Amino acid sequence: MDKKSAKASSNDLTQMPLTHLQGVGPALEKKLAGLNIYHPLDLLFHLPFRYQDRTHITSIAALQVGSDVVIEGHILGTAIVFGRRRSLLVKIRDQSGIANLRFFHFSAAQKNSLAEGKRIRCYGEVKWGRSGIELFHPEYKIIDEQDRFSSTKTLTPIYPSTDGLQQNRLRNIIEQALILLRQGANLIDYLPSKLNQEFGTNNLKDALLYIHQPPKNAQLEKLEAGLHPAQQRLAFEELLAHYLCLRRLRENAQQDKAPSLSADSELILVLIQNLPFSLTSAQQKVFADVSKDLATNKPMLRLVQGDVGSGKTIIAILAALQTVGNGYQVAVMAPTEILAEQHFLNFSELLESLNVEIAFLSGKIKGKTRSETLALIGNGQAQIVIGTHALFQDEVQFKRLGLMVIDEQHRFGVHQRLALREKGQSHGASPHQLIMTATPIPRTLMMSAYADLDCSIIGELPPGRSPVNTVLIAESRRSQVIERIQDACSRGRQAYWVCTLIEESEMLQCQAAEVTFANLQQQLKNIDVGLIHGRMKPKEKSEIMHQFKSGNIKLLIATTVIEVGVDVPNASLMIIENPERLGLAQLHQLRGRVGRGSEKSHCLLLYQTPLSELGKQRLEIMRSSNDGFYIAQKDMEIRGPGEVLGTRQTGLMEHKIANLSRDSHLLDNIKIWGENLREHHPGNIDPLIDRWLSVNQQYGNV
Ligand code: ADP
Ligand code: MG
Repeated sequence: MDKKSAKASSNDLTQMPLTHLQGVGPALEKKLAGLNIYHPLDLLFHLPFRYQDRTHITSIAALQVGSDVVIEGHILGTAIVFGRRRSLLVKIRDQSGIANLRFFHFSAAQKNSLAEGKRIRCYGEVKWGRSGIELFHPEYKIIDEQDRFSSTKTLTPIYPSTDGLQQNRLRNIIEQALILLRQGANLIDYLPSKLNQEFGTNNLKDALLYIHQPPKNAQLEKLEAGLHPAQQRLAFEELLAHYLCLRRLRENAQQDKAPSLSADSELILVLIQNLPFSLTSAQQKVFADVSKDLATNKPMLRLVQGDVGSGKTIIAILAALQTVGNGYQVAVMAPTEILAEQHFLNFSELLESLNVEIAFLSGKIKGKTRSETLALIGNGQAQIVIGTHALFQDEVQFKRLGLMVIDEQHRFGVHQRLALREKGQSHGASPHQLIMTATPIPRTLMMSAYADLDCSIIGELPPGRSPVNTVLIAESRRSQVIERIQDACSRGRQAYWVCTLIEESEMLQCQAAEVTFANLQQQLKNIDVGLIHGRMKPKEKSEIMHQFKSGNIKLLIATTVIEVGVDVPNASLMIIENPERLGLAQLHQLRGRVGRGSEKSHCLLLYQTPLSELGKQRLEIMRSSNDGFYIAQKDMEIRGPGEVLGTRQTGLMEHKIANLSRDSHLLDNIKIWGENLREHHPGNIDPLIDRWLSVNQQYGNV
């Protein structure tokens, strides 16, 4: 059958409207759309998250609270009872005893149908209610005396559902799709049979049928944990589709032309001569990768990973100089205003003698300054432009953009990554892209969520750094902490005090910082205390940072705005309040603000008691390690990658079946099989991507 006639056939589960199924009208169709179900095929991929064993009848005397059961008996009577909530109570009896069914929502007709003497079969969870053993809102069926219990041979699936869509209704619709599948509806398996063998599954069809209707001897625990081979095979297929999609995007991006920027730039030589330090060999190696990419006429797509303090900024500066040296412009984008300003200062300082024009642009730059800056960007006079997201607004037009640097990538997701690529295009040419992150991305995740990027790692810190000594201190010992600050400052050192809050609200965070600021000012009268937070004006912020850098401020109270990039080597003490509220990666970032000078540095984690078991575990990881990679790995084990990288940035957030914390072991093989498909089954790639990524997104059309 050619493709066209396959589409037309009623056999095609991706073409048939849902309303072709019995009992599905426009209203239900809409509800199903809320579950991302648009065609019968989507029903097949809507998988149970739990199962009930309805394969046998339990006698009432043997009921156990908390178990899901089938019971069968005669109705003794019904009554409406008025407790805290009105409910309908139905008393039933079998040979062994008496139990009650309780309904909080019911109609008169329903009550009448439950007449005394009728035989009833119900399914539900056993609870302990006011009348003893009860089944709340069981599914039930009135049956006649001859009706023998035979029906279910398989476990009964429980599906994720939505308001007003009852399990049995949803189950009934999915069953219809399963029947179509059994009757030979078109469902192509795009995975090689060898891969199916590895999972011990025959093919996609069998895997789906098994998951929806497992036999009663199936291993329920495995199924409910999502670890049955049939489920793992599907998760694998989904991860593979995401990988292939990212590879495709990469290929597309690389079809574009980029300016070839030759490496022999006078500017670079001068800068390296002027640097107060020499590059570590890791930095040299990474810049060599970058420099080589820039010299080709394909757009660079490179991620540079390096722990906090490993010296990523200098890589960006070198890449910028190679670009500028070839007559192209550079955009450097940072996730926060404060970090953008820091970069602006760093770049300006290091490039001072080189006569390179650097501009700054953020949302807060307004009026005349803004229009002047925009003009400089537009006519190409601004050679390096540093800023926030504001750089990618429509009104910003570069004359000849050759390189985009995105710092601290963990704040940007794959969508933004792609949007930027597009935005940077002009005259049919794409700029090179350099992405820098301090959140180490495990190798396995690299192969899926970041498969569109090349990667270089700065695996070493500049010499002379001593690891930060981290201690956990309970809030009740706050006075000791104050003493530590006194002591450090009297020895000419500086300190950070970081305030955190659970609420995302920036305003509350700032308020908390203000209160702490006032208190500490009181308690530390002989010390110059400063305050910085996100709601201050950019000018105030840079003034405070300047004061802190120059040593006029000894203790800086801050919100997590200082999380990334801020660099004051003389600061050797950091106090983090309520560290239990932050992710480990974020704590590590914060802590990275100290330990930048030669002095031994300390980080005090001032936690609230009582600390949960998990909280203890996590802070203990912080205490015992300074290795960002190890910490991220542990954090991921505890919380899952989505949480750690922030769901937005994994680029893999909208999984139907795969779960990155549960299934990360699958990622190891994704690349191998992905490349296998690209080589041996290229025709399967598009439909596979379509199957898994078609509904809400996707990457392609950002
Ligand atoms: P991060 O990787 O966290 O962005 P930075 O680029 O901010 O790190 O560098 C941290 C500090 O280390 C800065 O003060 C920078 O000047 C310094 N630095 C960078 N490279 C070296 C080096 N090779 N030797 C000594 N100091 C360095
Ligand atoms: Mg940095």
